[in-house]
Amino acid sequence: MRLIETHAHLDAKPLADDLDGVLARARAAGVGDIVAPAYDPESWDAVAALAAAHPGVHAALGLHPWVADRDLDLDDLRARLLACGAVAVGEIGLDAKIDGPGMERQAEILRPQLRLARELDLPVILHDRGAAEHLVPLLREVYGDAPVRGVVHAFSRGPELARRYLDLGLHLGFGGAVTRPDARARRAAATAPPERIVLETDAPSIGLQDVPAGACEPRHVREVCLALAELRGLTADAAAALTTENARELFRLP
Ligand SMILES: [Zn+2]
Repeated sequence: MRLIETHAHLDAKPLADDLDGVLARARAAGVGDIVAPAYDPESWDAVAALAAAHPGVHAALGLHPWVADRDLDLDDLRARLLACGAVAVGEIGLDAKIDGPGMERQAEILRPQLRLARELDLPVILHDRGAAEHLVPLLREVYGDAPVRGVVHAFSRGPELARRYLDLGLHLGFGGAVTRPDARARRAAATAPPERIVLETDAPSIGLQDVPAGACEPRHVREVCLALAELRGLTADAAAALTTENARELFRLP
């Protein structure tokens, strides 16, 4: 079984403190490639260094809505994306549930990053927490009728919202949510077009049914894969092959 973890914060504690162990356990679980999104200029440095040092670790750089009060230097971001061979712009997006920068300011830093992704022909890694009513029109504004290449990560909503993102051309990143028996994301994961599904953990932030947040590592993408296989009536190998191919194509991994 060969798996791709499309969202792990390898520069965050506790993963960063035992990175060799984390990567070895991931490899032993069949996780050959990991996309590591960074969220502010300090983590851009950290993630670029990780990607340079570890084959199979791929950087994504973006300014996260949680730090939307920071300045966005687009020329600096462009230069860094190119210098580290980033596979995506992210993590970027909108968050309606934080007690921080407002939606207007979040959109102000998101819009140019979406344009930059288009300019560089890179996919985007999107964070949406309760903000679809703002995010969908903003994506339409920037991409027009062109498909949005990218993923809505840690998708935890039902099939109706999934459909709106799928109609834009996006992939859905499923993680720990689909391992929980009562999660509405299970219906979205069961019914999404097979070619639009990728797997992730969002380690270390989000747990699985049997793994508490904080203890989550990229190797747990295997449990996500098993849950998806069961939901869709696939063998584990078929679910792995499908999602690995999708991720490889989306992020243009070797
Ligand atoms: Zn994340």
